[in-house]
Amino acid sequence: MRPSKTPPIPSLLPPLHFFILISTTIPSKFPPMPLSKLSVLLPTNLHNHQLLLPNNLQSNIRNLRFNSSTTPKPSFIVTPTHQSHIQASAICSKTHNFQIRIRSGGHDFDGLSYRSDLLFVILDTFNLPSISISLENQTAWVESGAILGELYFEIAKQSETHGFPAGVCPTVGVGGHFSGAGYGNMMRKYGLSVDNVVDARIIDVNGRVMDRETMGEDLFWAIRGGGGASFGVIVSWKINLVLVPRRVSVFRVERTLVQGATNIVYEWQHFASKVDSELFIRVVVMPSVKKDYHTIKAKFVGLFLGNAKRLFNLVNEKFPELGLQS
Ligand SMILES: Cc1cc2nc3c(=O)[nH]c(=O)nc-3n(C[C@H](O)[C@H](O)[C@H](O)COP(=O)(O)OP(=O)(O)OC[C@H]3O[C@@H](n4cnc5c(N)ncnc54)[C@H](O)[C@@H]3O)c2cc1C
Repeated sequence: MRPSKTPPIPSLLPPLHFFILISTTIPSKFPPMPLSKLSVLLPTNLHNHQLLLPNNLQSNIRNLRFNSSTTPKPSFIVTPTHQSHIQASAICSKTHNFQIRIRSGGHDFDGLSYRSDLLFVILDTFNLPSISISLENQTAWVESGAILGELYFEIAKQSETHGFPAGVCPTVGVGGHFSGAGYGNMMRKYGLSVDNVVDARIIDVNGRVMDRETMGEDLFWAIRGGGGASFGVIVSWKINLVLVPRRVSVFRVERTLVQGATNIVYEWQHFASKVDSELFIRVVVMPSVKKDYHTIKAKFVGLFLGNAKRLFNLVNEKFPELGLQS
């Protein structure tokens, strides 16, 4: 017997029947539902859809800490292909007491997009990855299911002189990244991702679709850094593209302790915030082992919005400790 607070699966399915739904592992406190039983509830017309089998449950768990049999599993994964599916999910989940965990790129450090101690469903936006660019207006509409690499690639395909300031990891999702603010290699010149977000489409718990005008400035402010899932499902974002030179320069320099890492990190702290805003250098300090020799190394990774000659002149004049060479 399923506990009474668990909604009977058949009553959930009619409104959701157009989704790509399949059984996952029902949380351990509920008896597992055999796949064969659920398959009769599936729509027969699945030809354009991807069937989510139990293994897919873990495919987006990037933090291996949560990739275990004890991590609570969702009752369903919903993969909307249209915003009306998100509206129906919100209403249906509210009616039947399912918590919704919203997932875009799945990179949440605490697994907030795919685990919960309550009865929950995952709403995964990966089927909503469209990117629509208007070079004329220097803007783009990006759906939350797109990942950063797709956004950068799409912009680069259409223009050699436009970009967007966001994170360094190409597989981070636009949905979580923008709603958490988004910092990256161009932030000294152009600020955070959210400084360049000009509109958004969000669906609230009652299934209402709102844009910047209808949600109001307070909510629009909150979803740009306050975590989108606290307020609704963000379907898409309108962003301003930024101008970049046709050629940019990148570098990576690694120094261990015996190579002077401590001093270079010290000097970097004085240099990094004062140098031209075209240059961004981040430092990653990490353990290093070479031939059984344990040490610490500092990795300096830089992007310069200009050519290599200007970069060398700038760094060698103001930050010679780095020892940048071609
Ligand atoms: C390897 C790695 C590299 C990273 N690099 C950077 C970086 O360079 N710069 C930086 O700023 N951050 C970086 N981050 C942090 C990353 O930006 C955040 O973890 C971000 O929230 C991940 O977004 P996601 O969509 O991939 O994750 P998800 O796990 O899908 O979502 C993260 C959070 O946002 C919510 N959410 C997701 N989609 C939506 C939506 N459509 N509507 C409402 N809420 C939603 C989720 O419910 C969850 O709470 C990095 C993280 C990792 C793991």
